[in-house]
Order: sequence, then structure tokens, then C-alpha cells
Amino acid sequence: MITGKNYIGNTLSARGQKTYKTINPVLNIENETAFVEANSDEINEAITLAEAAYIKYNQKSGPEKAAFLNAIADEILALDTVLIETYCSESGLPQGRAQGERGRTIGQLRAFAAMIEEGSWIHATIDTGIPDRAPAPKPDLRKMLVPLGPVVVFGASNFPLAFSTAGGDTAAALAAGCPVIVKSHPMHAGTGELVSSAIIKAAKDTGMPNGVFSNLNSSGIEVGQELVQHPKVKAVGFTGSIKGGRALFDIAAKREEPIPVFAEMGSINPVIMLPEALQNRGGALATTYAGSITVGSGQFCTNPGLLLGIQGEGLSNFIQQLSEEIVKIEPSCMLHPNIIGAYEKNKQTAIDQEGLVVAADYGSEVGVNYARQAVVTVKGDTFLQNTTLHHEVFGPFSMVVECENAAQLQEIISNLEGQLTGTIISDNDEIAKYGHVVAALQTRVGRIIFNGVPTGVEVCSAMHHGGPYPASTDSRFTAVGTDSIKRWVRPFSFQDWPDHLLPTELKNANPLGISRSVNNEQTNASI
Ligand code: NAP
Repeated sequence: MITGKNYIGNTLSARGQKTYKTINPVLNIENETAFVEANSDEINEAITLAEAAYIKYNQKSGPEKAAFLNAIADEILALDTVLIETYCSESGLPQGRAQGERGRTIGQLRAFAAMIEEGSWIHATIDTGIPDRAPAPKPDLRKMLVPLGPVVVFGASNFPLAFSTAGGDTAAALAAGCPVIVKSHPMHAGTGELVSSAIIKAAKDTGMPNGVFSNLNSSGIEVGQELVQHPKVKAVGFTGSIKGGRALFDIAAKREEPIPVFAEMGSINPVIMLPEALQNRGGALATTYAGSITVGSGQFCTNPGLLLGIQGEGLSNFIQQLSEEIVKIEPSCMLHPNIIGAYEKNKQTAIDQEGLVVAADYGSEVGVNYARQAVVTVKGDTFLQNTTLHHEVFGPFSMVVECENAAQLQEIISNLEGQLTGTIISDNDEIAKYGHVVAALQTRVGRIIFNGVPTGVEVCSAMHHGGPYPASTDSRFTAVGTDSIKRWVRPFSFQDWPDHLLPTELKNANPLGISRSVNNEQTNASI
């Protein structure tokens, strides 16, 4: 049952004055439950509990924490249809998408559980001492990764499960050993509360300390800002807009003790369409890209918002075919009236720029909150001069840039802001002639895709989901995949510590049998 209350640790609480409701965008009506925004006392209590839980939580072994993560996954599954129905009613997304995203959320939790159960992830590095080394003895040094402390997580509107309450940031932080305080996304507060109830039940059932998880409601920016300013918070995970991520990053940097904000933000994901590929299979590419631009109403951080080609017959035909294909697709509902409002406004701002040509704009009647997809074109030099055209239009919108030649293509790529992904569409060996273009692209993105579409982010160890600013605030880290745990830890060394006082991972006997670097050799052996 959804109560509309906050979880302050294990306790449901609603002491604030401000209430709000979520919206069903398909029906364009408010959902029933009134959610109570957390007040300052509740924020403070959640963080104080998290700080106390931090010590106790880290006395739990890897397998114990893994059992907690697996129990969260089980409890989310046990929510069954109520979760799926709430997700759909708060997002307008279809059931199949809800089930798929739940599968991904469960998969992430279980992947982290498997990793911490095994234990080698803490990156144990041991340099044994040489007491009789001349002229000075060498100390015994043993290093491992340790958790940062309480982490605040902001979820994104467009992934109510996989990038929200028990999404990638929360799973990674709990796996690392950090208590989590979630700033619930106001557009899917009911989904957030249900998932929170699953986390709290799992925490109780597996003996985790009260405060290891809290969920705070909020309908505006104040709760989030108060959380990031709180001196006991040690790191922040954010998924959302560049504006929001940057505001929180700046708040964190101005604190007396600055803390890291790992913000994964917007991206236009440039796609470079090389001439031979366009000539040979422009029609098929147009169909594929019409689908990629409109999937999920374009509400993906990896949506292909920018298509780049060299002017000529191949590109002109492609633009025409893409324009024909994209208007054949039935428009779909966006997440919220505010999201469609921003889409219409940003699309119009782009269209109003000098030199922009509208190649396709879905013209037929659509339902309230349904987005009209559009494709626009612009010449390379206009795009270079007008940086307004470089900004994300979050929704089913893409801009095709007609470059004069390969040199201009390279110049445009070099002048782009940082991106999550870049894609190269190439036939035969034509990519070999564009080595400089690929090199330029690599400096601007976190992942390069060959002959595919940027939408779709695999959850695995080799995934990098991040990129140079503003795609993310720290391009060294990924937000997706098990490597994302590295955001919530810091290296810590023990010097000359007695063996029996060392953490299990660093003891001579290697009781966990984990892989360690011992005197620069990777081994599972004891010392
Ligand atoms: P958003 O408007 O930035 O909201 C995200 C969260 O941040 C919300 O809870 C929001 O609270 C809060 N927030 C926003 N501005 C804030 C501020 N100045 N101070 C404190 N809190 C603030 O983003 P969204 O609409 O949910 O998501 C859409 C965006 O996310 C798109 O740009 C998309 O590309 C990006 N995205 C990126 C990724 C990725 O992995 N890189 C994944 C998914 C989405 P309130 O709503 O209460 O204001």
C-alpha cells in the first residue's frame, strides 16, 4: 500500500506541511495518493541515522551485504503487479517497458551481490615489509578500497526503476558499504515508495542496521539542496538534466568540506554517417534511425539527437527517407506534462534559429501529453556558429548536420560538448579514411558504437556510461555496470599493522581466497 509518507530509516514519517500528487500522463489526471514532502527535521534524522548505520553496516561481511542486495531484488519482484501498475500510472510508459526495466533493476542488484560476495573487487594490494632493507627498512603496506560514508541519490524521471530508488546508484553504493538516502523523484513518488518498502523489508529481514536506507519525498529543489549541503553526507549520485546536475555540483563544491557529485546528465549522442554507407543503405538506416529517435518518445539519455554527414546525394536521400519514415511512427505519451512542455519549448527554440530547416514534423492530431516527433536539418557552418543548436532537446527530436567536407565534420566534432556516446556508420573499409574524425570523436565521448544505434545500454563490467563534461561531472567513472561501485569508495592503506588486526581481505592467510596483488604479482594464494 502506498502511504505518501517518507521512510526515515525503517520508520514511515510525514511531519511536513507540503503535499503533492503524481500525474497519470496518459489519462492526464492526478493519481490518488498525496505525498508529504520531507521537512528539515526528517532530513536531519535520516542523515544522522545513516551516519550511525555506516559503522554497523561495515561490520557486515561481503556475503551478508550480498544477501541484503539479493533480498531487495526478491522483495521488488514480490511487489508484482502493484509495482508495474503504479509505474505505468506515474510514467505513461507501457507494461512491457516496466517489466523490462524491473528485470534490469533486479539484474543490477544481483550482479553487485555476486561481486561483493566473491570479494576481489576491493582491490587488495599488498607490499610486504623488508625490515632489514638498507639503508632504511621497508614498511609493510596493505591497501584496499573502503566506503565513503552516507550517499545521497537523485533518480531520473525517465527510469523510475533502473536509475531511481533501487537503481544503479543505490545498488552500487549499498554494495560499496555506503548507507543511501534517496531524494525521491516527484514524478514517480508512488513507485519510489513501493521500492523503498522492498528495501526496508529486505534490510530488516537480513539484519541490516536502521538507517542503511531512507527515502525522502520532495516536489521541488529544496530537499535535494538541503541534503547535498548536509555536512554528514559524503557523496552524491545524480541522474538528470545538466541544469540540475550542475546546480548540485556547485553546491557540493562550495561546502566547507567539498564532496564529489557524480552527475550523469544530458547528451545529444552524435552519429557520424559516412558517405558510402549512406549511398549503399541509406533507406535501411533511415528506418533504423526513425525507430531509435522515437523509441520511448525519445526520453533516453542516449537518444540520437545529432546526425552528421557530408553533403551529397547520399545524405539528401537519407534525410528524405528519414523524414518519411519518422512520421509513419505513432507518437507516444511523454512522462509528464512538464516534460512535454519542455520538449515543445526546446524544439521550438531550435526551429526558430536562423538556418534551421524542418524536414519532418508529425502533423496529425495527437493526445494530450503525446509528443510530435521532428527532424530538422542545418548546414555545417551554421551549426558551428550557433551553440544553441548543440543543446539537448529531450524527446523524439533529431538534427541532421550537412557538413561541407570531412575537414568540417572533424571541426564540428571537435567543438561539441562532452557526450555519453558517439556512433560511426561505415561501409566496407571507408572508416580507414576517417581516422582523424574517429580520433576527434574519441576525445568528446565515453563510448563509440560501430554500425549501430546509441539507444540501449548493456549492464556489464566493460560498459562505460559517462563521458567528458557535461555528459558527466567526472568522466573517469561509469554510472552503469559493476565498475560504478568505484564512485563510492576511496583507497585506504594500513602500514605495519599486526596481521590479526587487519581486515579479513588483507590478512596473510587470505581466508576469503580473493585475488590480490602481492608484491606486484596477482594471486589468490596466502602469504
Ligand atoms: P531533472 O529535471 O534534472 O531532475 C532530476 C532530479 O534532480 C529531480 O529529482 C529534481 O527535483 C532534481 N533537481 C533538478 N534540478 C535541481 C536543482 N537545481 N537543485 C536540486 N535538485 C534539482 O531531470 P529529469 O527530468 O528527471 O531527467 C531528464 C534528463 O535526464 C535528460 O536531460 C536526460 O538526458 C537525463 N538523463 C541522463 C542519464 C544518464 O545516465 N546520463 C540517464 C537518464 C536521464 P525536482 O523534480 O523536485 O525539481
